[in-house]
Amino acid sequence: MRMLFTIDQESRYLITGVAGVVLRAAVVFLLLTCGSLTMAKQNNQNRGDRMDETSNKNPAVKGRIPDSEIPKTNVEWRKRLTPEQFEIARRKGTERAFSGTYWNTKTPGTYRCICCGEPLFRSGEKFESGCGWPSFYAPIDAKKEDTKGNVVAEHEDRSLAGIAGFGIRTEVTCRRCGAHLGHVFNDGPPPTGLRYCINSASIILDPKVQSNGSKDEEDTSKSR
Ligand SMILES: [Zn+2]
Repeated sequence: MRMLFTIDQESRYLITGVAGVVLRAAVVFLLLTCGSLTMAKQNNQNRGDRMDETSNKNPAVKGRIPDSEIPKTNVEWRKRLTPEQFEIARRKGTERAFSGTYWNTKTPGTYRCICCGEPLFRSGEKFESGCGWPSFYAPIDAKKEDTKGNVVAEHEDRSLAGIAGFGIRTEVTCRRCGAHLGHVFNDGPPPTGLRYCINSASIILDPKVQSNGSKDEEDTSKSR
């Protein structure tokens, strides 16, 4: 009897101990879950606030701004752009691969400069490069005889020249306002063989509006 009692007592301690651990784990799990949810909610709210902030302060979000309204100093740019847009477009930063708004976007439309609103690229020339950034094989004003067009300017970039696998790259900027867009490489698809690897933060998509006289309809009417 005494021995049985001892076993019972040990079992009870064991059960109580296990229950205690499970209970504590559950409490910790609940606290962490609530914490994550609160943080996620906060992040979403911050993102929403930032977008409101951008559209209110940055006239280029709505369309191409007049030359006279293009800022001349970083102080002015900072007032219009989000910190991420400023860092990338005005200070030649790079967003993380697969993190930007447009790397996987297939929506038809025109991509404009986030700084001055100039139309730069079209969905028609966008292709899946697998690199994690929106990629285009030509700028918006490219022609058969001039595959690089005029709206995008090129500059030699030696910033990563000393790092294996990089070498000298070709930076591309908005010719009108100097916004850093990304880089152009010679490993793109036909017909140009070019790959414009662009930061989502430097551009904004105007989804294509289907209406009478749109390019698609003109093309269709010609083929009739
Ligand atoms: Zn621009």
